Amino acid sequence: MPELRALVVVLGDQLDLHASAFDGFDAGVDAVWMAEVVEESIHVWSSKPRTAMFLAAMRHFALALRAAGRPLHYTRLEASGGNGALGARLQTDIERLQPTRLVMTAPGDWRVLQAIKAVAEANGLPLDVREDRHFFITVREFAAHAKGRKSLRMEYFYRAQRKRHGVLMQGDQPIGDQWNFDADNRKAFGAAGPGAVPPRAAFEPDAVTREVIALVETRFARHPGRLESFAWPVTRAQALQSLQGFVEQRLPLFGRYQDAMWPGDPWLFHSHLSAALNLKLLNPREVVAAAVAAWQSGHAPLASVEGFVRQILGWREYVRGIYWTQMPGYLERNALDARENLPEWYWTGATDMACLRDALVQTLTHGYANHIQRLMVTGLYALMLGVQPKQVHAWYLAVYVDAVEWVELPNTLGMSQFADGGMMGSKPYVATGKYIDRMSPHCKDCRYDPAQRSGELACPFTTLYWDFLMRHEAMLAGNPRMALQVKNVARMTGAQKLAVHERAAAIRRGEVGVEQHA
Ligand SMILES: Cc1cc2nc3c(=O)[nH]c(=O)nc-3n(C[C@H](O)[C@H](O)[C@H](O)COP(=O)(O)OP(=O)(O)OC[C@H]3O[C@@H](n4cnc5c(N)ncnc54)[C@H](O)[C@@H]3O)c2cc1C
Ligand code: SF4
Repeated sequence: MPELRALVVVLGDQLDLHASAFDGFDAGVDAVWMAEVVEESIHVWSSKPRTAMFLAAMRHFALALRAAGRPLHYTRLEASGGNGALGARLQTDIERLQPTRLVMTAPGDWRVLQAIKAVAEANGLPLDVREDRHFFITVREFAAHAKGRKSLRMEYFYRAQRKRHGVLMQGDQPIGDQWNFDADNRKAFGAAGPGAVPPRAAFEPDAVTREVIALVETRFARHPGRLESFAWPVTRAQALQSLQGFVEQRLPLFGRYQDAMWPGDPWLFHSHLSAALNLKLLNPREVVAAAVAAWQSGHAPLASVEGFVRQILGWREYVRGIYWTQMPGYLERNALDARENLPEWYWTGATDMACLRDALVQTLTHGYANHIQRLMVTGLYALMLGVQPKQVHAWYLAVYVDAVEWVELPNTLGMSQFADGGMMGSKPYVATGKYIDRMSPHCKDCRYDPAQRSGELACPFTTLYWDFLMRHEAMLAGNPRMALQVKNVARMTGAQKLAVHERAAAIRRGEVGVEQHA
């Protein structure tokens, strides 16, 4: 067997033929290594849509590698036998293939990087970890931005990114003379609803994807979620088609309705591009460029395009910077000392709260929920209930097709659960059921009343909101952005507080909110 120079390790979220790991690749002496391992589906209870997304995209990428003439050592899940862990599989293959070094693009997960480093070290192999070009800035550049700053708010980072990359800029000033168009964006649909929303880009599973679906249905039969409507883009060509469809049909109204919700429709005017971006089927630069071009051609208004660019150039890059500069300690944060368990029905959708049921059923059916459902429905409820952040994290990492730890963890622990004590957000995102009532018609079909905070009909969100303020009154009183909300607690009588406390205790005991079967 001729000597193998470099074994290029490609992970399930690194599916780009032009990734830095392939720089200098020589098919005569180098080879690619990929493996489907059980560990990735069980270290959290990965949903069927999420596992299918990764496996289908990996198998299609393997075909693209072979078509490009790159030698590939690929282990399928069926063949991985006892080697259920990534490190163990790599170890076996190193013994067989005897490469002189390992090369890879920087992985998204801290845990995976440690596993691969350990294998390289154990075998005395040099490991060349290269910069991931799928981000606008490097982790080192983020760290330099963060250094010495008292506050690490996204807004300042985002403005610096716009300037640095010249996106929607006129000299040193933002186009439209505003950094933020929130006043034009974030509207609710009103009683008439969203009207005719363009259908989402859906891709009929081909033979490769159908085989994956059958495998997931048998191998992970007891895992949450469903696969009947699996239609995600799993190749680069499909991802590009999704991008084009979004820009042409949805982007013009993206900004206006980015915070709106409508029962039975999770897709609305969102892009549904997160999985394609995170698996590297799309590059964020081409996504931002396509959105900016739509504004330049007059197809989409500035407010919408800015709102969208903010998500990709701002939030996405920002959370990655937070993750890599804060790990591994970040995973352990629990600033609010939250100790409850995640309700069982998060895994089934069996709750009688209309807003939560809708978000959960969509999540389990499609592996998708839009941002506002994640932040202000499922996340908000877990925060106010006081669920242990690690359990909330394990749920979010398991259920969504776009879930990769570098992006999921800061969104969950930091933005949604305030478990980092305010590193990402200046205050916890807490609200009563009235917020959900304003942004959606869910409450009209719900047995609870968002205006009531205690009693049989009280909306659990509203009860838990007041309970949250009462439980964390001392800590929140020191936060100027919460002062007004906390003052309202002081106005409550002892009897009112007790009523909230008792109702919240019943919710925690599982006596409220669980679907009742006739
Ligand atoms: C608790 C919680 C957990 C989340 N977990 C994930 C996750 O595992 N993976 C993930 O990609 N996103 C996650 N998000 C962010 C966001 O909800 C999803 O990116 C978005 O809903 C995906 O749908 P979309 O592609 O239609 O997004 P759009 O609404 O169309 O937004 C456009 C793009 O912007 C990016 N984006 C938007 N918001 C964020 C954000 N807060 N952080 C990072 N990127 C963002 C995404 O790439 C997205 O595709 C999470 C948010 C919360 C509150
Ligand atoms: S009343 Fe409360 S639980 Fe019911 S839909 Fe409204 S916010 Fe959700």
